[in-house]
Amino acid sequence: GVRVTLIANTLRTPYSGMLPGLVAGHYTWDETHVDLQPLCKFGNHRVIHDECVGIDYENKRILLKSGRPSVKFDVASVDVGITPSAGEVDGADAHTVPVKPIGGFNARWEALMTRVIEHGVECQVCVVGGGAGGAELALSMRCRMRRELAKANLDENLVKFTLITRGEIMPTHAKSVRKTFLGVFAEHGVDVVENDGVMRAENGKLILQSGRAIESNETIWCTQAGAAKWLRDNTPLVLDDKGFIAVNPTLESTSHKNIFAAGDVANVLKHPRPKAGVFAVRQGPPLEKNLRRALLGEALVDFTPQSVFLGLITTGDKSAVLSYGKMSFGGLGPVGEKLWRWKDKIDRKWMKMYADLPDMMGGKKEDEASKIALAAGPETMAALRAVPMRCGGCGAKVGATVLSRVMKRLEPIPTNPNVEIGIDQPDDAAVVSTPPGMVSIQTVDYFRSFVDDPYIFGQVAAVHALGDCWAMGADPHAALAIASVPYGLEAQVEETLYQMMAGACSVLREAGCALAGGHSCEGAEL
Ligand SMILES: Cc1cc2nc3c(=O)[nH]c(=O)nc-3n(C[C@H](O)[C@H](O)[C@H](O)COP(=O)(O)OP(=O)(O)OC[C@H]3O[C@@H](n4cnc5c(N)ncnc54)[C@H](O)[C@@H]3O)c2cc1C
Repeated sequence: GVRVTLIANTLRTPYSGMLPGLVAGHYTWDETHVDLQPLCKFGNHRVIHDECVGIDYENKRILLKSGRPSVKFDVASVDVGITPSAGEVDGADAHTVPVKPIGGFNARWEALMTRVIEHGVECQVCVVGGGAGGAELALSMRCRMRRELAKANLDENLVKFTLITRGEIMPTHAKSVRKTFLGVFAEHGVDVVENDGVMRAENGKLILQSGRAIESNETIWCTQAGAAKWLRDNTPLVLDDKGFIAVNPTLESTSHKNIFAAGDVANVLKHPRPKAGVFAVRQGPPLEKNLRRALLGEALVDFTPQSVFLGLITTGDKSAVLSYGKMSFGGLGPVGEKLWRWKDKIDRKWMKMYADLPDMMGGKKEDEASKIALAAGPETMAALRAVPMRCGGCGAKVGATVLSRVMKRLEPIPTNPNVEIGIDQPDDAAVVSTPPGMVSIQTVDYFRSFVDDPYIFGQVAAVHALGDCWAMGADPHAALAIASVPYGLEAQVEETLYQMMAGACSVLREAGCALAGGHSCEGAEL
């Protein structure tokens, strides 16, 4: 089969469509972030929480920041998005806050609100970048700040907001969108500076290309995307002039076979499009199909992205503007409010798909579902659909009640007089004394099941482990068992674990060796 591994530098990834709503206080952190761990567990994918810092194409390995061993691949897809390109402006790294990663930005934003409310002092916030993201962000921050100030009985106008952009605002949308937003900014008292980019950032102020200086106590950087430096420094991939990965319409690198890229980090040379989530999302299904085709050695298929896209751009409060090609409407007022409610519904539905994972099976035939779930039988399939994802926070341990029931069923558990603290007095570790004049021999064995009968497998595993002791001329006194059983209904997990441990105990008992403790978990296989 194929092992899919996701390497991600964050395990809670934001849904950008809802980020302005998070900043405005309409949504919580959880409502706007996808938890990758249960998602990957559901798809039976391995997750590595680390940061990719390079690709060794010759040896087909992904290099990781933490220094742990690199990860082997046959086919890889690089989907790392953008990095804020503040670095090219003098002082921006030191004196501005990039909007991505959102965790860092949000913490700064919350701290700013607390500071303003605690001290009640006037302050000026500048957002640099007049695309949809920057515009939404400026309006959302203003909306939230005013609400928090009002709650604290402070002047709602204490904090002033300014949007600064190199060209005109909303450059990738119709002219009418710009006009509507200029009206919204004017109505909300947000200053807009167009056609005057930031040349230098200093402590407390920004110097623009025209030479104009603007006071700024907090500057948020939300400009055109830049690409990660490691792509240039540490991969052999051909990049475009901005450092993004050049790909064919198949989403495969133009220079390296079996390396794919999608989303903001990719530049489909034949179909250039703005960096936007709507395009990234649409590339998902063709990417998945071509990854499969590459693995099966089949011909790849071209993908042509849509040329116009629907944008629902929010105005901070609960209203929005619809932008589609040359058409736009909405803004402040009843139509805009209706559009916001529509967007809210779409966004919540989208996020529900990632939280309510069994629903992802909806409409699928059973034989299309995970082979592992199917192998566990129709009862498990039903349970998987009915219950939320199993908890992975505790390392997918077998539940305590299941374990204690299994232990009860195993009684009498084999013992040995040298075990001071064992399974009969459960603690974090076992205590075993070594008789005077003797030494302690330790060994560990672990392997996958090659038989279907868990009882036989338990016996084989115990004999195999004891064999190493006997080979050393040692008398086995105590054993720790590490047992992994396939995911399933509690009853099935319990039965499999019981059968396997019963087999092991039968061998240990005969050898006079205590079962002193161990660890059990649920996994993909026995
Ligand atoms: C405030 C804001 C609002 C936006 N609103 C919209 C909108 O309403 N509609 C829209 O279409 N677009 C919107 N966008 C744009 C949208 O966010 C992006 O186009 C979209 O997220 C791109 O998806 P992606 O998968 O390519 O990258 P990302 O969503 O950025 O995902 C990349 C992932 O890779 C991880 N990563 C990065 N580097 C590494 C590494 N080296 N190793 C491992 N993992 C790594 C990141 O943590 C992240 O989880 C908005 C952007 C902003 C800033």
